[in-house]
Amino acid sequence: MSKKKQRQIRTDFRKNRVERQRKVNFTRDFAAGEPEEIDSVREERISGKGELSRRRTVRAADETACADDSNSQPVLAVDEAVCLAGRVLKVNGLLSTVETADGRRYQCATRRLLKTISTDLRHVVVAGDHVLIRPADDKEGIIERVERRYGVLSRASRGRQHTIVANVDQLLIVGSAAEPYLKPNLIDRYLMSAEKAHIRPLIVINKIDLVEPAGLMPLVGVYSQMGYPVILTSARSGTGVDRLRRELVDRQTAVVGQSGVGKSSLLNATEPGLALRVASVSQETQKGRHTTTTAELLRTQSGGYLVDTPGIRQFQLWDIVPAEVQNYFRDLRPYVGLCKFPDCSHTHEEECAVKDAVADDLLDVRRYESYLSILEGSLDDLEDWS
Ligand code: GDP
Ligand code: ZN
Repeated sequence: MSKKKQRQIRTDFRKNRVERQRKVNFTRDFAAGEPEEIDSVREERISGKGELSRRRTVRAADETACADDSNSQPVLAVDEAVCLAGRVLKVNGLLSTVETADGRRYQCATRRLLKTISTDLRHVVVAGDHVLIRPADDKEGIIERVERRYGVLSRASRGRQHTIVANVDQLLIVGSAAEPYLKPNLIDRYLMSAEKAHIRPLIVINKIDLVEPAGLMPLVGVYSQMGYPVILTSARSGTGVDRLRRELVDRQTAVVGQSGVGKSSLLNATEPGLALRVASVSQETQKGRHTTTTAELLRTQSGGYLVDTPGIRQFQLWDIVPAEVQNYFRDLRPYVGLCKFPDCSHTHEEECAVKDAVADDLLDVRRYESYLSILEGSLDDLEDWS
């Protein structure tokens, strides 16, 4: 068992765990475990009275495991000697497909204790997680530990946060110059998500074979000035595809953008091995067909991973309150501290440095309008944007 710094953390029981079941299941789950592990279970203390208030104390393997945000989970101490490190490629109900470093794949259930300490059963394990598994044979195993996550993309699902994928370091935001027409405000929304999740955004404007590229330059200029890389591509003619391929090397890239902009075509062009389905236009117009939300990691030849699923293409922003919006607009940030009112929303207020900057052409008008539309429009009702 790991002898790293340990600390105790308190965690809620899931409501549906009645005491008798717990005993039965612990016995069964840990019967096959190492003695150390059984010891660690004994160290859990049960306190509180009612079902809702009952908590248990478990040991976390490192100090920072429970820090900051709701995406982090306690990292459990496990017997690392019998475990293999792997990456969750996909979660299918209770089973996860885990790929280990040597490329082997295991179908894994999740250790029950992990589920218990999770605040939300649905993201005990998500695609992209780095995990430790205990193999049962060469095809199956148990996920013993989920490592700390970074770069988490979430969407709102019936008022709750639903983690779609973890450990992403690049958000590929794809729009098309035409068919469907370019929606810069949608790009801005995805940029906010990237900023919030601390994921590097990469903007791609596809189908430039359909337009005069010079017309896109003002927009490209605005994003470039903010430090966002922009690539103009055509999956059809091949323009920009090499550059895009280079940007994917060794990266964990999640792909977002509305239907029909050419995401599958582009990814197929950069990675011919993927063979993603390219939808015909008629398929694309049938809304509601893309109901799957299961994210899947696809390994690229160059060593990175791509995450491309309809469920993540059109995710809603989670957890961004109006006052926060300005923080995720890089170009607004230099001005927000200069407004007369510290809580200025940059809408109706007087002596607003943001509005002054727009008037002085220091801030792009369209970006400011995009900011306003995000503030006014419901942050939690973005389905229409996709
Ligand atoms: P996705 O929904 O974003 O994955 O888009 P698809 O890759 O399925 O492409 C949607 C449609 O756009 C298909 O009919 C493609 O053939 C077409 N398409 C994709 N890329 C390009 C491009 O660069 N130029 C043009 N003219 N059409 C494209
Ligand atoms: Zn202001």
